[in-house]
Amino acid sequence: MNDRLDVFVLQVTDYKEHDALVKTLSQTHGLLTFIAKGLLKPESKNASACQPFSEANFTYDHQEGKGLQILHSATMIESHRKLREDLSKQVVMAVIVELLEQVLEDNYDPSLSDEVHKSLKVAVEGLETTDKPLNVLVFFLVQALSWLGIEPQVDECTVCGESKINSISMDEGGFVCSDCQKELQSPIFTAEFLYAFRIVNKVDLSNVKRYLTYQAPSMELVDYLYDFLAFHGNLSLKSWAFLKKWSIIN
Ligand SMILES: [Zn+2]
Repeated sequence: MNDRLDVFVLQVTDYKEHDALVKTLSQTHGLLTFIAKGLLKPESKNASACQPFSEANFTYDHQEGKGLQILHSATMIESHRKLREDLSKQVVMAVIVELLEQVLEDNYDPSLSDEVHKSLKVAVEGLETTDKPLNVLVFFLVQALSWLGIEPQVDECTVCGESKINSISMDEGGFVCSDCQKELQSPIFTAEFLYAFRIVNKVDLSNVKRYLTYQAPSMELVDYLYDFLAFHGNLSLKSWAFLKKWSIIN
């Protein structure tokens, strides 16, 4: 029996001879990897629908509990080709894909599947049209913090609850007031940085469309957010070094 599934293609890697592995994300199955036989042959009918970041409809016979599914055919829904033609967008997508892998493979919570899928859709469509790829990246980092349940406290001092703050403590997980800062010896930040850090941490699916038109965050802020995610989420992304190297803000 043929199963059908709408997927986002995340990654395509060489497998055996002319075969490829196609890693996908779908609303119902989260991450799912397919063996696409003959995909690397020039005459492959599925090649255009299996390009990274495209949305496609896959037919296959779902094998429960199998790590790899066998793709029968792939039909393009939306190419999203702009994401493959612009280097800064590619680099941001590489971070998003790696983040999805790390967040979902180890501790995937099926109750999040709808939100994860919606977030990827917003990111892909936003990235396609925006000239501010860092805003999309920040949205995704903040989503990942929320999925892992490690959002920073940005409403008050995370130690004592005081509302006047001048610092962020990585260890304590958020804003810190001047009294607690002296105690913790945490770094002091400018009011502008603290304000911007609060704003980005309030971005979610309900307000992201507006945020994508908002001024681009500084690389310092994006970096700090990533450090926070890496520290509390205990993850490390290879693509982050690449992003830094290409320094996508010009
Ligand atoms: Zn305090």
